[in-house]
Amino acid sequence: MSKKNKENTINIIPLGGLGEVGRNMTVFEYEDQYLIVDCGILFPNNDMIGVDYIIPDMQFLNDKSDKVAGVILTHGHEDHIGGVPYLFDILENVPVFATPLTAEMAEVKLAKGGRISKANMIVKQAGDCFDAGPFRIEFFHMAHSIPDSVGVAIETPAGLIVMSGDYKFDQTPIDHWPSDFAKLAELGKRGVLALLSDSTNAERPGNTPSEMEINRNFEEVFSTAKGRIIISSFASLISRLQQVSTIARHHKRKICIVGTSMVDNVNLARKLGYIDLPEECVIPLEQALSLPDKEVLILCTGSQGEESSILGRLSRGKYNAFSVKQGDTIVLSSSPIPGNEENISGVINRLYRLGANVIINSVLSVHVSGHACQEEMKLLMNLVRPKYLIPVHGELRHLVAQAKVGKSVGIPEENIFVVEDGQTLTLHDGKMKLGEKVPSGFVFVDGKGVGEVTADVMRQRENLSESGIVIVTLLLDKKSGGLIKEPQFVFSGVTNEEDLVQAEEQIKRQVIEHCAKNMHTRTEEQLQKDIMQIVRKNFFSTIDRAPWTFVNIYSI
Ligand SMILES: [Zn+2]
Ligand SMILES: [Zn+2]
Repeated sequence: MSKKNKENTINIIPLGGLGEVGRNMTVFEYEDQYLIVDCGILFPNNDMIGVDYIIPDMQFLNDKSDKVAGVILTHGHEDHIGGVPYLFDILENVPVFATPLTAEMAEVKLAKGGRISKANMIVKQAGDCFDAGPFRIEFFHMAHSIPDSVGVAIETPAGLIVMSGDYKFDQTPIDHWPSDFAKLAELGKRGVLALLSDSTNAERPGNTPSEMEINRNFEEVFSTAKGRIIISSFASLISRLQQVSTIARHHKRKICIVGTSMVDNVNLARKLGYIDLPEECVIPLEQALSLPDKEVLILCTGSQGEESSILGRLSRGKYNAFSVKQGDTIVLSSSPIPGNEENISGVINRLYRLGANVIINSVLSVHVSGHACQEEMKLLMNLVRPKYLIPVHGELRHLVAQAKVGKSVGIPEENIFVVEDGQTLTLHDGKMKLGEKVPSGFVFVDGKGVGEVTADVMRQRENLSESGIVIVTLLLDKKSGGLIKEPQFVFSGVTNEEDLVQAEEQIKRQVIEHCAKNMHTRTEEQLQKDIMQIVRKNFFSTIDRAPWTFVNIYSI
């Protein structure tokens, strides 16, 4: 490509977040230099057994570390910063630009992952303008459910690109800091080539209610609850924690925060002044348990029904520090992430069984989304007036829904690009077209392992969980080939004890018979196959499923 051509070309490379809500990551390429925006995680579905979370496939960046001009983090949610430590497995000595709260939250992650020395954290404020290689960057504030969220304007000689970041146009946010409408209008005036915009709620008409709207309902909860109040939400939903803490103080309840992730986030937010929570209002759990019930508010995680969360354990009576009791009021202040409904329902039922009064969003509005609905999207588009629209941050259905919103405000259909992860877009001479495809599959993180769990491993886990496993051990005489002792069996997850005893007897008999036949002519491999067949056949006829079967043969 000639120099002139290069100067007029910018590539947009979506590595995550287009086709799912999570693992957001976008790379921009200009003159052989790269700018990365966000690097988040995606939480697995229920059928992704044993997977902690999913990160973007970053192999596109392999060997490009010296060409990466910078990493930008828009806000501190897991789906935007959770993958940063893994990014610094590839990158070295690259500046990371973020607002104070986001920077601190990312630093905690980098430190835990042992990669803090590889990143060069540079704190910027909303409103700041700075350079990263050939990219001129501008941060502007956008209201969201965590303080210090920004949208990003990226300017190169090839044109101005605006990313909304996660946002809503809350006119009365908890932190009194609404989105920067003036900046959006000013960018619109300068001429925006492309807008990459949050699609999460694109199927919802109207406006997302303000955080303030649920104040009234929390007031009601606090004025009617006679016992303890336990509120569960996301650990990073700082604005909600502020909101309920303020109400708790009015109602003379002391606040007790339980769980490391929530305690860490609140401490960070307090240290940086993003949450107003005087020292004397917060008490340790021990003290909370000794106070009269009506003077206590407990904040914890678990509103998504996660088994290992505090609320999940409380509902099972498996949280050591305290138990749910008659008279407790428990509020689940979030809406279910698709796929979690069943788990949440289980938690709610168990909490009722323990005598608690449970308040969920469908009964009393105790949660509002942090993302814009259709009318807000229209306002954003009308302020920014982009030539091209690229819906991001959503499943395909959400991206398509935002494309429709774009059309409704007059963006020509051919200027709206609905693409999924890995499909690059090229802006050349002010015109956008589809570019090449780059790898963008799921990378599973399982404990300390990254990427070791492949699609094959996942399929095996699924099979194992569906039909269980049988291990057969045979001890053969080397000379005669006959059985030295009865075959041994190990069963796991196959069927109930009673049926197993019967099945084992039958299979044992058949195996012994089989072993006695053709002792000298068969190979070990053949014997293994035959025995697998016997086991599988038996179970298929009784429980209509063939468990995974392994046969160990020892010849001595
Ligand atoms: Zn967010
Ligand atoms: Zn997000």
